[in-house]
Amino acid sequence: MIRLGKVVAIDGPSGAGKSTLAKSLAAALGFEYLDTGALYRAAALALRARGVTPEDDDGRIASALNGVSIDFREGRVYLDGRDVSEEIRTKEAGHYSSVFSARKPVRDFLLPLQREFSSANGKNRNLVVEGRDMTTVVFPGAWKKFYLDASLRERARRRYEQMAAMGKHISMEDAMEDVALRDSRDSSREIAPLKKGEDAFYLDTTDLSASQVLRKMVEVIKGCGPEKKNEK
Ligand code: C5P
Repeated sequence: MIRLGKVVAIDGPSGAGKSTLAKSLAAALGFEYLDTGALYRAAALALRARGVTPEDDDGRIASALNGVSIDFREGRVYLDGRDVSEEIRTKEAGHYSSVFSARKPVRDFLLPLQREFSSANGKNRNLVVEGRDMTTVVFPGAWKKFYLDASLRERARRRYEQMAAMGKHISMEDAMEDVALRDSRDSSREIAPLKKGEDAFYLDTTDLSASQVLRKMVEVIKGCGPEKKNEK
């Protein structure tokens, strides 16, 4: 049986600031950090490298994933032992991760991996995890739960700037379209759709800086923030 450490689980749509906040919150708390989107991106890379397309059936996807190894260590993601941290950030990898993440064999493959991450060699690890179904499916018993959100326009602006920082230039229209498409795929899928868990603390980050959001999250964790479970 897997024993869990303290888990801070964060969900939210693309561009809500989850990665930035999860990383800085983990550093502030002295916890480990797990970016589950990176695992979905690596799984998509593995499937594409094995010639799988979104039209293939679940059986084909499941057998292609058989024997695949995905690992996340110190902020880097490894696919079959190879560091793919940069490769998973392309537009194509983002697209396929979003499409394949709706498929049952992919979610079944990554579920134990994510849970096992919280126990290294049988010892509990304290973790900050972020994704789309952390609070609802993967760690429903998490110690603290957050749902980070922001307006579509602001999330598209952040996506645009993130791409520009990597030297990849897209238009604001493309960024809006990409974010909106991912929102609709992530929240409308049948398995583990993106939604705010009832007991997750809702935080709208549209008009807040990363350090303001971090401060609020730390306040909530310490129990001195605004009362939890606030509604959208
Ligand atoms: O967070 P990021 O954009 O890197 O995630 C890539 C894709 O993986 C998302 O678009 C989403 O469809 C999927 N994902 C998911 N469940 C998670 C994390 C990511 O379905 N827990």
